[in-house]
Amino acid sequence: MKHTRQILSVAVPVPLTGLFDYYLEDLDDPTQSCLPGQRVWVSFGNRQLMAIVVEVKDNSELAADKIKPVLRVLESDNIIPSSVMQLCRWAASYYHHPIGEVYSAALPTLLRGEKPLPVSTTTWVSLTDAGKQTDPKTITRSPKQSQLLDVLLSQNPCSLAFIKQQSLAGSPLQSLIKKGLAEKIEVKEQLAQKNESSALLAEPNLPLNDEQQHAFDQIKQELGNYHCFLLEGVTGSGKTEVYLQAIEAVLSNDQQVLVLIPEIGLTPQTLSRFKNRFNCPQTVLHSGRTERQRLHGWQHANSGHARIVIGTRSAIFTPFKNLGLIIVDEEHDSSLKQQEGFRYSARDLAITRAHQQKVPVILGSATPSLESLHNAEQNRYTKLPLTQRAGNASLPIFRLLDLRGRPLEGGLSQPLVKLIRQHLDKQNQVLIFLNRRGYAPVLMCHECGWISERRNCDTRMTLHHSPRYLHCHHCDEKRGIETSCPTCKAKELNPVGLGTERTEQVLQELFPETPVVRVDRDSTRKKYAFENMIAEIQTGKPCILIGTQMLAKGHHFPNVTLAAILDADGALYSSDFRGMEKMGQLLTQVAGRAGREKQQGEVALQTLEPEHPLLRCLFNEGYPTFASHLLRERKLIGLPPYGYIALVHAQSPFREKAQNLLQQLSDYLPDNSETEVLGPIPSTMERRAGRYRFQLMLKSEQRQTLHQSVSQCRLFLENLKMDRDIRWQLDIDPIELF
Ligand code: ADP
Ligand code: ZN
Repeated sequence: MKHTRQILSVAVPVPLTGLFDYYLEDLDDPTQSCLPGQRVWVSFGNRQLMAIVVEVKDNSELAADKIKPVLRVLESDNIIPSSVMQLCRWAASYYHHPIGEVYSAALPTLLRGEKPLPVSTTTWVSLTDAGKQTDPKTITRSPKQSQLLDVLLSQNPCSLAFIKQQSLAGSPLQSLIKKGLAEKIEVKEQLAQKNESSALLAEPNLPLNDEQQHAFDQIKQELGNYHCFLLEGVTGSGKTEVYLQAIEAVLSNDQQVLVLIPEIGLTPQTLSRFKNRFNCPQTVLHSGRTERQRLHGWQHANSGHARIVIGTRSAIFTPFKNLGLIIVDEEHDSSLKQQEGFRYSARDLAITRAHQQKVPVILGSATPSLESLHNAEQNRYTKLPLTQRAGNASLPIFRLLDLRGRPLEGGLSQPLVKLIRQHLDKQNQVLIFLNRRGYAPVLMCHECGWISERRNCDTRMTLHHSPRYLHCHHCDEKRGIETSCPTCKAKELNPVGLGTERTEQVLQELFPETPVVRVDRDSTRKKYAFENMIAEIQTGKPCILIGTQMLAKGHHFPNVTLAAILDADGALYSSDFRGMEKMGQLLTQVAGRAGREKQQGEVALQTLEPEHPLLRCLFNEGYPTFASHLLRERKLIGLPPYGYIALVHAQSPFREKAQNLLQQLSDYLPDNSETEVLGPIPSTMERRAGRYRFQLMLKSEQRQTLHQSVSQCRLFLENLKMDRDIRWQLDIDPIELF
């Protein structure tokens, strides 16, 4: 018997750099050999773990007796295609993250253990020999059976799904089976072919306006090549229609499409626009789906069955049989960046993947990130502007409401209340935006100045009214409310500051006749609560909507004519260099909810700084001019996109330990002028969930020098002996600095 040994370099999901060698023995059966992208089960330390084969070799650099055997090969195929392997390798290197953890993050949870991939099958119907010999005309008693036989003779075998679609799956099918003319067979997904002959479009395309047509033509020309497009379209300009028509072009080439959307954009409304347009299998991947559903979606994409995959951040790792286009909607949205652990940007990975797989990628936004605008300026991306609202809608009128010297009630100034009344009187809807849920951010004793403090975090506990409790929105701590001041025993504690619950209450008192609908994470916790609210809003009856970000993005509310922003001044003083950019994006998104159909929309912003030049610029000249001002500022101070940044985070229950670790690192790093080292400084919220957090910032004009410095940091930290209660993480291209 031939005795061969295959060496496998595998990635193990542990926080260690590099691959590990194992061997597969007794390979007299060549079908037993492994391929990159295959999953195996190995022992690692005192545990057993799933690992992914990355390389297959004849020899290892390790001594033969140091290499352990693979315990089990989990599937006979390499289920991770080379395109996803390549993307993961790139991501591990760019984000300086352990490769095993990257692969593991790229897989559905159910594939991270030892269970093999379930073989998914679909049911088909096939004619028996007798069936093939039968002339449908001879079945005179039942026209339906005759019809089904006719279908099967022209398409044998035929998927049960198709037969169901033709309403022939019930008794006609049962009868044919009973007569021995047809039988059901299970077909492995991979073999399943598209046999549905129905048209791809379930509803007609809209005729494109000139700008949309131009954008579509450009995209169409690049199908089959890598090209990055920045579809910059004001809210309501019909970006989605451009996506849909580009998707149609790709689907007609028998290719698949990946659509990434931010968590908040993942609304039933958005999804139904894709569902309604196309007659083809579509898959939605996001954290709200069960593990089983996600695994199915993953398999359907991998087999080529799902033609459109719509998902949040992690869907960027979905395997495809034949990918033809990637779309990243709301490309500026911060939820596209993972903020813990393996901190990748799904948008940036989308561009890398498109490049690797030679397919076009469309980044869409009404308010593109400064990075993308800069890339377009440098001609790395092609900008496709949509400057007009689609259909007949015109852009809204903007007003800054000066709050100086004006009393507020529930955060509302008199001029705003008047404005709200005017719009309601015209039978319209009003949207009020406040980015803070709960009743009030602080509970305070006016006698002694006691405030409802955090226990574990450096923030106040937010007061919630119904039900009444204090809640920390950062570590999720909840507790009951003191009935008297814990310090001076005074009986009266007063809420201070604004929250959506409180404003809702005040609005209801001011407008007792009008329904007030609050939309935030608390009010929409119950299943379908959000959907029901959206449905109510869409009846178009006069009402006041008060809500957080959940209300700001992506929705199309035809009857909202006034969008009001209660408080955005915080961003004007933000210490984060992206504070202004984010504010501009959010305000533009909120403004985009007003006047999306026939009626003129109006946008009002309450502020104590009505003369602020950037605010005025945003309101008078719009986001593109505002963004070009910000870009000029960034250039002056060498911040992204004119420089590159990485952060090293450290945390520990002990303040000094976190700080000292980063100090040691900072002392170790060479003092060269090409990478600036700043810090360590405490993170904005220095204490969170009982742990102290510090950060060290690395900054360079060149991406390459920055990455060299990060590699040095990583080597240093990986080899340093440190207490187990200290944790560190790297963040490349951070989107939050403090
Ligand atoms: P965006 O995604 O840019 O905010 P949408 O795609 O939601 O814009 O389009 C806004 C509205 O305009 C939708 O109701 C859409 O059906 C409509 N619309 C888009 N393109 C056209 C078009 N070419 N002709 C008429 N209506 C259109
Ligand atoms: Zn007190």
